Amino acid sequence: MEPDSLLITFLAQLGVISLTLTICSVIRDRVRGKLTLPGKIASGMLFGATAVLLMNMSGELIAGFRFDLRIVPIAVVGLISGPVGAAIAACLASAARVWLGGAGVLLGLTGVWLAFAVAFLGYSLANRGFNRWQDVVTFSALNAGIAFFILLLLPPNVRDLLTQQNAHLILLGLNFLGTLISTSFIRIDLIRRENAQLNELNRQIVSALPDALSVKDLQGRFLIANEATASLMGATSAAAMVGKTDFDYYSREEASLFWEQEQAFVREAKPVTLEQQFERNGQTVWLSTIKAPYFEAGNIKGIVSHTSDITARKSLQAELISTQVLLETAMAEMADGLAMFDPDGRLVMWNQRYLEFFPYIDEQSCYGRTLADLLTAGVLRGDIKLPLGASPLSWVQDEVERSQSAQQSDLRLSDGRWVSKTTRTVNDGGWVTLYSDVSEKKAAVQQLEQMASKDGLTDLANRRIFDRRLDDAVRTAQTCATPLSLLLIDVDYFKAYNDTYGHPAGDEVLRQISGVLRSACRGEFDLVARYGGEEFAIILPATPEEGAHDVATRLATAVRMLDIPHVSSTKGRVTVSVGLASLSATTDDPQQLLKSCDKALYVAKGAGRDKVRAAPRQSQPEKLKPTKRTTHSSD
Ligand code: GH3
Ligand code: MG
Ligand code: MG
Repeated sequence: MEPDSLLITFLAQLGVISLTLTICSVIRDRVRGKLTLPGKIASGMLFGATAVLLMNMSGELIAGFRFDLRIVPIAVVGLISGPVGAAIAACLASAARVWLGGAGVLLGLTGVWLAFAVAFLGYSLANRGFNRWQDVVTFSALNAGIAFFILLLLPPNVRDLLTQQNAHLILLGLNFLGTLISTSFIRIDLIRRENAQLNELNRQIVSALPDALSVKDLQGRFLIANEATASLMGATSAAAMVGKTDFDYYSREEASLFWEQEQAFVREAKPVTLEQQFERNGQTVWLSTIKAPYFEAGNIKGIVSHTSDITARKSLQAELISTQVLLETAMAEMADGLAMFDPDGRLVMWNQRYLEFFPYIDEQSCYGRTLADLLTAGVLRGDIKLPLGASPLSWVQDEVERSQSAQQSDLRLSDGRWVSKTTRTVNDGGWVTLYSDVSEKKAAVQQLEQMASKDGLTDLANRRIFDRRLDDAVRTAQTCATPLSLLLIDVDYFKAYNDTYGHPAGDEVLRQISGVLRSACRGEFDLVARYGGEEFAIILPATPEEGAHDVATRLATAVRMLDIPHVSSTKGRVTVSVGLASLSATTDDPQQLLKSCDKALYVAKGAGRDKVRAAPRQSQPEKLKPTKRTTHSSD
């Protein structure tokens, strides 16, 4: 055979195979996905038919010996549709070969089924991935090897004839080339299909993105954009944007600005993030854009832009800032001090007023200091006054515990102010304390307390205070085994005084007498009280009966010495009668003491008034007679 006609035959056969592969590829593109059984059968029939066609297009290799590429479609169909397709193709080719008849039927069938075996092998290769060039070459060499095998089966004289003319090498080469080209086609087609699927997936992801994604070339033309970009820029569709620039969608001014920004970005060629504000339909819109360079072979080719709408985030941020400002203003303007402590008792937040209450606290270094620390510093510097008799250490500990358990307490500052601490625990175990200046309230309360304990006319302690102090004095005397005496003083003929001189004059007398009583006693130590109407009482702690008698006599004399005229009195002037009782084994409780004292007063009255009478040491109430003088008496 002439080399030209051999080449033509080969190219023609290769053309048929290529056509088959193309048809198969187009159909597979349409069908998408893996081949199902009908698909495998159909492809087997298509490739089988191709093999039959090739048999009929055979060319003469040497005189009496024809060749064709039938084993190529039978083998490569195995890569597409596996053993099923290959078997169908082999069956079709076998039938055709038998139908053609002639001497080489058996050899022809052997070749066909050997090609089927190679198809089987190719199928397992394809299942393992089939993406190495070595696999393609091995597969092609194996298929071409069939020609050698057939050669071995030929009668020796034919074989010699073929080998002498190097026909076996041509056969091998053509089959190898045919299989290699076909297999490469299938492999490239496979990669193309995989890429197309990947592209499709990418396209869907990009178009489904709520954020705008686009790529521009260096001239600012859109190469690709998604639907979100189209709606952001007001374009009719993403496809319509390709080839357009910002100048097609924005005002000249805005587009120029973007263009300049992009040019600067191209010069830098580093990813940047921009936040821009726009007015759209009367509303402010915030967009955040990430721009990244897009390279090809190491050269910048364009810009990838990713834009997301951050209006909601921005308004949230603004809201947060304004809330923070409000909170800070509120805290700064608060009349009260505010401090927040974490679960470990460390200061984490405070306002200016808090620092004004405790000026010794340094604003720069107080963050993270414990309440115990801060209180100790205040106590040691004398800025916080401890309650009388309290030890600094245990007071600080108690204060911290009070805060942790949200108990209210008051602090006294060195400048005389009182600060009330109100604490609330918070969920994480920390607490918030509010410090209020309660100095005025405290002073008012003290004043009220004083008013409630003083008699309005004489400014002496009232009955309420007297009762309380008597109880305390009796208890202390008993505990410390010290004496205690009590005096009851009653103005003589006072009703008559009022009747004669008028009530206001009577009041003045009461005031004068209370002055005398006060000066006859030991300041803070004794208690002089207005017991009722024109009656007074004096508690004399640590005073035995004798001492009390002296006091009583002294004050009765002092009243007499006032020399206040009293024409309605037998004495001619204002006088008092005094009853005296001391704590003893029989008179051992406040009520008993009062009772004894009252009886002694009654005796003093009975004795003619302006007298001092003591209750008997042994309490013998029934023996006390109003007229009878007691042992201890003074006229
Ligand atoms: P006696 O010598 O027995 O104590 O006679 P008396 O008049 O002092 O005793 P009596 O208890 O009968 O009278 C007490 C009087 O004291 C009656 C009341 O008008 C007067 N009195 C009580 N409280 C006041 C007061 O606050 N001011 C004045 N001016 N008089 C008072
Ligand atoms: Mg009286
Ligand atoms: Mg009286």
